[in-house]
Amino acid sequence: MLDATHDPDARSWVDSAGLSGTPFPLQNLPFGVFDHPVGGGAPETTRVGVAIGDLLVDLAATASAGVLDALGPALRDACLAPRLNTLMALGPDAWSALRRHLHHLLREGDPLGDAHRPAVEAALRERASVRMAVPAHIGDYTDFYASLHHATNVGTMMRPDNPLLPNYKWVPIGYHGRASSVVVSGTGVVRPVGQTRPEGVAAPLWGPSRRIDYELELGLFVGIGNEMGRAIPIADADRHIFGVCLVNDWSARDMQQWEYQPLGPFLAKSFATTVSPWVVTREALAPFRVALASRTADDPAPLPYLAHPGIAARGAFDIELEVLLQTARMREVGDAPVRLSRSRTRDLYWAPAQLVTHHASNGCNLRPGDLLASGTVSGPERAQRGCLLELAWRGTEPVELPNGERRSFLEDGDEVVLTGWCACEGAASIGLGECRGRVLPAAGADA
Ligand code: MN
Repeated sequence: MLDATHDPDARSWVDSAGLSGTPFPLQNLPFGVFDHPVGGGAPETTRVGVAIGDLLVDLAATASAGVLDALGPALRDACLAPRLNTLMALGPDAWSALRRHLHHLLREGDPLGDAHRPAVEAALRERASVRMAVPAHIGDYTDFYASLHHATNVGTMMRPDNPLLPNYKWVPIGYHGRASSVVVSGTGVVRPVGQTRPEGVAAPLWGPSRRIDYELELGLFVGIGNEMGRAIPIADADRHIFGVCLVNDWSARDMQQWEYQPLGPFLAKSFATTVSPWVVTREALAPFRVALASRTADDPAPLPYLAHPGIAARGAFDIELEVLLQTARMREVGDAPVRLSRSRTRDLYWAPAQLVTHHASNGCNLRPGDLLASGTVSGPERAQRGCLLELAWRGTEPVELPNGERRSFLEDGDEVVLTGWCACEGAASIGLGECRGRVLPAAGADA
């Protein structure tokens, strides 16, 4: 549902929120967590903030100044918490109330904003001057495999005659990932060491992975959870989603190839997963909901527990995603990152609500702050392949970079940047910001 907070004509008194190309105009208002005080040498504490243009509003400071008192004690306390979990647990009515309040505080010519302007101005900080943190305490992280195009491409490499396994169009496939190694954008990723068995070699080798890859994914943060033993009906599933972020599910393909049977990914994935710092709320995405693009009339109807008319019509988020790469050599000579691919979340086969409902369908309890990722978001075209495994087709078609370098997998010093944004007629464009990570040399490989 759209309301005044989505009004494309609304302007903020924060000038940079009105610049074209900013991911964070007044209509977005994403939440994140930053270190405070920054570089002060004090024991690390974090605070909740909301991004607006090039700035952020320190919500703890506004709460302390009484600017959020009208929202009641529960919301005020959530804004004083060190992570977003407390806010996530309050549910969609509270999230909406906070969003409306922030909209009024930051909107030009708004009586509420005018009344509190000095206190809000005192809580503003340059986003470039703070260090962001993982936005929530992530108790559990699950990675799905919701892109039909990704599944088909990877399946074709493994089984040219039978790319898609028979379960794919019936059951959303996923695995339980590792929450402890989820890191925020900008964190270096150390090349993992492990077992691999190259083709034609009898015994496995031990050493640094030689096939590091990125995976371009959409992350969903669970807001309200469910009691263990109780499912989440599909009609309610959207209300359990707090918001989205970008996810890079780093993967060691050579380790994965050797270890994945029979139980799935393990050490090939658990060494690092990077998330973007700003959580764009489900409510901010309301103007950008569309039908899933990958389903055809020939596909089986989802089983009733995953079927809902609202999903067929507007179950998908329409988010454009992009992968950029800057190698060490490009950085040295000042070359800008180059785009490797561009794809869309509407091309996923399963909608976010279906992933939530399926996850809880066996009685598994989701909790506020849990992270569910979509799986690699690929589209039908070559330029829409969301990981290097697909783009370079298992190393057989290396990607040529403008400076003559070639990549089948990532080299040390390579920096991968994921971005995402939403644009449509009649709405202000909003962005997800960026998810950045650089591959660092393996540590202790010879030890
Ligand atoms: Mn993945």
